[in-house]
Amino acid sequence: MNEKDCIFCKIITGEIPSEKIYEDDWSLAFLDINPVNTGHALVIPKDHFENIYTTPDETLARLSLVTKKVAVAIKNAVDAEGITISMNNEPAGGQVIFHTHFHVVPRFEKDGLKLWPQRKYNDGEISATAEKIREELKD
Ligand code: AMP
Ligand code: ZN
Repeated sequence: MNEKDCIFCKIITGEIPSEKIYEDDWSLAFLDINPVNTGHALVIPKDHFENIYTTPDETLARLSLVTKKVAVAIKNAVDAEGITISMNNEPAGGQVIFHTHFHVVPRFEKDGLKLWPQRKYNDGEISATAEKIREELKD
């Protein structure tokens, strides 16, 4: 999806309405129209990047600081007992809108949200997997 067809780019320009909660020169936060819990927000850079892989380091770093600021404000505003921050990348990762964004989800002890089922590793699988990842991270 390019910038022209991007819903979040249209939210930035005001072409699509949104409930904005924070804005500066290069970032925007607004409420998700289909919230997990009331106050669920999305934090985006104003420049269009598709996902985490193509977002410049500096943009991501600054975005994480805005995300923290917004998270604390949401927590106080809705009396949340916790905050879950997540980012979906690529369709298999659950991404539906292809403009980099962090979800900021206020959480409550009894909100019943089960984020994901977990499993056990098979024998030797954890060390073999860690080794492959360490190889990828080598300079
Ligand atoms: P993701 O699966 O991470 O790509 O999530 C995209 C999110 O954008 C979903 O949670 C949608 O509810 C939300 N969303 C889609 N369109 C809008 C919109 N016009 N205003 C606010 N949130 C939106
Ligand atoms: Zn966009």
